[in-house]
Amino acid sequence: MHSLPFFTTGLFINNEVLESNLVFAVTDPANGTVIANVSNATDEDCRAAIAAAHQAFPSWSTMPTRDRATILRRWYQLVMANSTSLATLLTREQGKPIAESKAEIIYGASFIEWNAEECRRSYGDIIPSPAAGKKFMTIRQPVGVVAAITPWNFPVAMVTRKISPALAAGCTVVLKPAEDTPLCALALAMLAREAGLPPGVLNVIPTNNPAAIGQVLTSDERIRKISFTGSTEVGRLLMQQSAPTVKKLSLELGGNAPVIIFNDADIDTAVSGTLNSKYRNAGQTCVCANRIYVQRDIAERFIPAFVNATRLLQTGNGLEPGVQVGPLINEEAVQKVEYLVADALQHGGVLECGGQRMDDRSLCYMPTVISHCHHQMMISKAEIFGPVSAIYLFDLEDEVINLANDTIYGLAAYCFTTDASRAWRLSEQLQYGMIGMNEGIISYPEIPFGGLKQSGFGREGGRQGIEEYLETKYICWGVNEP
Ligand code: ADP
Repeated sequence: MHSLPFFTTGLFINNEVLESNLVFAVTDPANGTVIANVSNATDEDCRAAIAAAHQAFPSWSTMPTRDRATILRRWYQLVMANSTSLATLLTREQGKPIAESKAEIIYGASFIEWNAEECRRSYGDIIPSPAAGKKFMTIRQPVGVVAAITPWNFPVAMVTRKISPALAAGCTVVLKPAEDTPLCALALAMLAREAGLPPGVLNVIPTNNPAAIGQVLTSDERIRKISFTGSTEVGRLLMQQSAPTVKKLSLELGGNAPVIIFNDADIDTAVSGTLNSKYRNAGQTCVCANRIYVQRDIAERFIPAFVNATRLLQTGNGLEPGVQVGPLINEEAVQKVEYLVADALQHGGVLECGGQRMDDRSLCYMPTVISHCHHQMMISKAEIFGPVSAIYLFDLEDEVINLANDTIYGLAAYCFTTDASRAWRLSEQLQYGMIGMNEGIISYPEIPFGGLKQSGFGREGGRQGIEEYLETKYICWGVNEP
C-alpha cells in the first residue's frame, strides 16, 4: 500500500500535506482491516482550506484558459499513468471489483480530459441592440470558491466530475470527500499538484465529522457554491444552511430508478441491461435499477432468465479475480438491505435467490431477486443501495408510467421495448432526468448527468457541466454613434 507514490493520509491544503494528531481509520470493507489512519480536519483546518482557496482565486481565475487547460490535461495524463495503483487503492477502500475500479479510473479521468477541452469554450454573447448608442454583451466568469462534498460509491469519479469543471471554469475548490473513502481523493490531489496545479487551487479536508465541517463550509461567505452528491436528506440540509449566504448549489441526490420491461422487449437485451444497471458496484449507485416492472406476458421468460443470470454472479473480495459483486461499504449498509428484504418478504414478496450475507460476519450480500413486489413495501420507496432486485408485474403502459413516476425521486429510468412509438412516449412521460432506452449503462462525460424532483438539480458532464461553475455577467456599453 505505502509503495503507492502518491499515497497520503494528511490534509491537503495549499499544496502541502499536513499530518494531524487527530485521525480516523479507513477500513477495507472486504475484511475489516484498517488500511490507513487519515488526518481528521477540524473547523480550523476547514477555515484554513477556505482561506487558501480564496487567496488562490484571483490568479487561477485570470490565468489564460490555455494554461489552465494544459494543467488539467497533464492531470488527466497522470491519473491514466497511475491507473493501476489508483484502481487497487479504490478497491481497497471501497470494495468494488478491481475491473470496475479500473473502469472507474478511466471514466473519472475522462471528465478531466473533457473539461480540459471545455475550458477554452466558455463563450459569452454579443447581443443585437434595440437601442441606438448602446451595445450589449455577456461574459462568463467563475463563481468563486467552490465547496465540493462527495460520496463513497465512486471515490474517484464523483471527485473528478465536480472538480474538473470547477477548475476549468476558473474556480478554486475545497473538497470534503466521504469519510469511508478519502484516500483516492487525496491521491488525486497529489497528482494534481504534480501536474502543476498552483497552491490553494485544490484543497482536500477529510473528516469523520461531516456535519460540523458542512456547517463551516455553508456558513462561510467566501464559499460561493456548494456542489454535493449524496442523500436527499443531507442535500436538503445543505440547501437550508446555504440560504443565509445565498450560495449557488448543484445537488445530485438520491434515486429510485424504475426499469420497465414490455412484452415486446428483446429478452436478452432486457436481461443484460437490467443486470448491468442493478449489480454494478453491488447495487450502490444512485442510477441503479431499484424497481423492475415486468409486463405480465413476458414475465415467465424474463424472471427465470434474470434469476439464473443473478445466481451466476460471483461475490467476494473485489481484489480476487473473477469477482463481480464486492462487499457493501459498511455494516450499516448491509443492515439496511437486510431490513428492506425482510420487510418485502413479510409483505408477500417471494425470494427467488439470495436473501442473505455470504457468511455471518461478511459485508458481502448475496445477489438477490424478490418477485411479487408491490408499492406497499418499503423496498419500493427506499433507495436499496445493495444487490437486491425487486420485481413488480404490470399490465398496461399507462399503469406502469404512473407506477414509475410514483416517487419523490427523478434521476434515471430505464425502458426495454422494440416499439419505437412507445419508446418515444415513455421518453417524454417518465419524470426523470435521464432515460436508458434498451440500455442499462448511460454515464459518460459527454452527457448531462442529473435529476429532477427530489433527486436534485444541476448537471455534471456535457456542455452543461462547466456552466454550473460560471456566472453570466451582462455589460451594457454606451457608444457615441457617428
Ligand atoms: P450516504 O448515505 O450515501 O453516505 P450522505 O449524504 O450521508 O450519503 O453522504 C454523502 C456525503 O455527504 C459524504 O461526504 C458525507 O460525509 C457528507 N455529509 C453527511 N452529512 C453531512 C452534513 N450534515 N453536512 C455536510 N456533509 C455531510
